[in-house]
Amino acid sequence: MPGSVGLLGGTFDPPHNGHVRVAQDVRQGLGLDCVLLIPVRVPPHKRTARVTPAALRLEMVRAAVADAPGLDVSEIELEREGPSYTVDTLRRLGDERPDTDLTCIVGADQLAEMADWKEPEEISALARLAVMNRGDLAPVEPDWDITLEWTAVSVTPLDVSSTQIRSMVAEGRPVGHLVPAGVLRIIEREKLYCNG
Ligand code: ATP
Repeated sequence: MPGSVGLLGGTFDPPHNGHVRVAQDVRQGLGLDCVLLIPVRVPPHKRTARVTPAALRLEMVRAAVADAPGLDVSEIELEREGPSYTVDTLRRLGDERPDTDLTCIVGADQLAEMADWKEPEEISALARLAVMNRGDLAPVEPDWDITLEWTAVSVTPLDVSSTQIRSMVAEGRPVGHLVPAGVLRIIEREKLYCNG
């Protein structure tokens, strides 16, 4: 069982080279044993757009990390009914792996939003918080009333997002340079994103 684990949650619809790259950079930058990619459950009433079924997003994340040493996948948020709250995930992982140091990884775009997350201060009590730059957006201390300790971690910005990939596939443009080969095979096999 690894001693230090980073947790990167996301919709991963689909996972792309940017996800793999930042997970590898954070792992290396913070000297973690492993980074877990955690596909989040998207409850039907919260869907603003169509979201690919969880089983396929999970299969794609598995394919994305297959050739990436030190990266792995956790199904923890898909196994649980109800909304996925980070604090609950950390509590469960902490119970399952009491000797593991947990690091919660978020993008600079998400830091200010954390004030609205469930029990944000408890999150920073249960895990280290690592905030990565998103493109040129570097993390800055938000103007907030809570006290959260966080560490900036520098990642190589790759100009790619899942939204961009879904649009490109819908327009019939190739995306093989933006996603790992195994992910591309699943997108093609399942004809994902063809209708926007
Ligand atoms: P979408 O376009 O559907 O919103 P996304 O590409 O942002 O998706 P998510 O699944 O929401 O992907 O991302 C999970 C995590 O990975 C988030 O913390 C997000 O900030 C981060 N992330 C995604 N793409 C990049 C990227 N190119 N560079 C740095 N961080 C990224």
